[in-house]
This record gives sequence, C-alpha cells and structure tokens, in this order.
Amino acid sequence: MSADMIDIKAVRSDFPALNQKVYGKDLIYLDNAATTHKPLSVMDRLVDFYSTINSNVHRGSHYLSTEASIAYEGARESVRKFINAARPDEIIFTGGTTESINLAASSFGRAFVKEGDRILTTLMEHHSNIVPWQRLCGEKGAELKVIPIDDGGNLKIDEFKELITKKTKLVAFTYVSSVLGTVNPVREISRIAHENDIPVLVDGAQAPQHLPVDVRNLDCDFFAFSGHKVYAGTGIGVLYGKKRWLDAMEPYQSGGGMITSVSFESTSYEETPLKFEAGTGNIAGALGLESAIEYLNKIGIEKIAAYEKSLTEYALKKLQEVEGIRIYGSSKERCGVISFNLKGVHHHDLGTVLDKLGIAVRTGKLCAEPLMEYYGISGTVRVSFALYNTKKEVDTLIEGIEKARHVLQAG
Ligand code: PMP
Repeated sequence: MSADMIDIKAVRSDFPALNQKVYGKDLIYLDNAATTHKPLSVMDRLVDFYSTINSNVHRGSHYLSTEASIAYEGARESVRKFINAARPDEIIFTGGTTESINLAASSFGRAFVKEGDRILTTLMEHHSNIVPWQRLCGEKGAELKVIPIDDGGNLKIDEFKELITKKTKLVAFTYVSSVLGTVNPVREISRIAHENDIPVLVDGAQAPQHLPVDVRNLDCDFFAFSGHKVYAGTGIGVLYGKKRWLDAMEPYQSGGGMITSVSFESTSYEETPLKFEAGTGNIAGALGLESAIEYLNKIGIEKIAAYEKSLTEYALKKLQEVEGIRIYGSSKERCGVISFNLKGVHHHDLGTVLDKLGIAVRTGKLCAEPLMEYYGISGTVRVSFALYNTKKEVDTLIEGIEKARHVLQAG
C-alpha cells in the first residue's frame, strides 16, 4: 500500500488544533500516544447531540430518550464492527482503558482469582495494566509475575511459557508498548495461554489508531482501549470481553441502569453490557467515538498504518544519525512511538527546549516505571505519531534536537 495515498493537507485541515502557534511557532504535535487531537466531525457530533436529542438512555419513554438510546446502541454496533467483535453485547462502554482494566481486574478477579493463584503481566506495561492486577493479587493473596523482555524490547516468549502454572488465571499484556513501540504477538500469546486454558486481556490503548484490530482473529478474551487516543473525546473507552466471560462475571459498579429489579432484600441485574454500565455514562462521548471510527474508516486504517510506518521508519533513520542518541527498543514489529535519550542531556531539559520551539513531546517515566528501572534511567523523551504528522515535522524535530544538543551538551 502506497503511503502517499493519504491527502495530508486535507486531513490536517480537519484538525483545527493543529493549525495554531505556540510561543509564536507553528505547533508540531508529537505527543499522540498521550492523546490525539480531534477532527471537526467528532466535535460536531457532540454539539449536535447536546443541541438535539440530549437525553438519558435506556430510561425514559419519551421521544428524545428513545432517539438517544438508539444512537447510543448504534455507537456500540460501530465499535463492534471496528474491532470485529462477534456481538454488540460484548462491547462495554467505560471511561477509558484504565477504567476498562480496573473493571476486568475487579469483576474477573472477584469471580475467578483466589489465594495462591497467579496473574501474568509484562515488563513493558503502562501502570494501568500493572497496578489493578497488583491490587487484586494483594487482596486475594495471589501473585503477580512479570514476563521479561530482551534489550530490543521484545517479550521473551520462552520465559512466558515457563511462568505458566496450573494456578495461572490470566495473562494481561499490551498490544503496542507506549514506550518502545513494540507490537506484541497477540495471537501467539493468546494461543499459548489458551492451550493452558488461561484467558488473556489485551491493553489496546496504543493499537486501533495505528493498525487494524480484529479481536476474533487475535482471539483475545478481553481488549481495552480509550476513545481519546483514537481521535475521539476524553472520558469514553471500551472494554471488549467474550460473552462467556462477561456472563460469568459480577458487575463492577452498581446503581441505576444495571438492574432489573431492586428490593432491600435482593437485587437482580441486567445482562451484559448494561450489567457493567452503572449510572449515566458518557453518552455524547460514545457518539463522538462512533464519529472518530467513521473518520478512521473513511481514510482506511490500512492506509493509516502504511503511512505511519513510513513516517516512523523515516524518523528512526533520522534520529539514529543524531550524535549521542540512545533509542529504547528495536523490535522489527513496531509502530507509532519512539523513545530516546541524548548522552549528557536530561530528558526534561530536552523536552523543555523542544517545547519552546513549538514541538510537543512527552518526557519522564511515561507511566512505565518498572521499564525505566530495567533500562536504568530516570525517564526518556518520547515522540509519538498520528495520521496527521509529516516528514517535514520530523525534519523540524531533528533540527530542534540538534539545537538542544549544542546548547545543553555545551552547558
Ligand atoms: N495503557 C497504555 C499502553 C497507554 O499508553 C495508556 C495511556 N497512555 C493507558 C493504558 C491508559 O489510558 P487512559 O489514560 O486513556 O485510561
């Protein structure tokens, strides 16, 4: 697929936030792994919802509520298609990846994890895919074991196999590392886990904006992602779960919208997904997510993947030419993200110099403290791409890094 098939000029005009100056310089936004900017169609959808059918869902019998409920369930169906889930009731709307993983840890943990059991995660996880499991294990008297990586940032699959025991209840791992850019072999990990009757949860926070996701093909049992990283608004996300697991799990939060009957003696619950959607959710956000999916589909996720691949390869090549640079992770299968340090330069100082040049990057531990510890560093600089970034922006980044290098290494 040719990477030139995206009309970048047209794409960039869809994102008003890109066309602004910071400190008098054209903004170059390279912090897309933290959050992406939003196309007008997503923002218009929110305005449209609040200007017309604004109402609560699955509650009222009046016109607006009926229309809002239809639209909300339509958004669920769009998410189902986007990740190729088998059924819409396998799609739970949440506040984002973090909430999705907390939901899974709480409800799956309550149903299936007991003293002496084991949960597996990996060294390259975001804190969101460590701490909920750590808390669960602490509460249950279970143990959290960590799948190691090699220096190139690839999971050690043989050591993963060795960590599997009869008491292993779940493997929770990221699809794409938010630090190293490594794309993990989800199908292979799922296959190995399933051969041992162990379900897998995939942290997909860095995946569907960069590559096509097919949860049935990946054969994962749970898949979590955030709307705001796929060009939708904040405060909306998704937990996909295979129905047989969701049916066997208890609700996460409880209250309105998730019950069929309540008395002071006992309560009965709705079926999934409503069972897991207590209270009023982010209705407008779900519609915005649908619009973001439509936007991605209009361009084509394969085209986006090809475009971003060529951009990432270009950036990697240029960065490798910078004197004294260390790039973390060299996986063959990678996308979206490059983290690095410059010899003798604190990551925060480099980030500050780049910021003053109008270039937004992320610095610090990137919510992956155990991984920083593994590399023996206090943090990194991270650049992360979206479909609207360009090679010209990469060139300006490199110029900025060179400027910073001269100033900071001299000082
Ligand atoms: N997992 C990964 C791999 C991430 O990159 C992030 C966000 N940086 C999260 C989880 C958490 O996502 P959110 O803050 O949207 O819940």
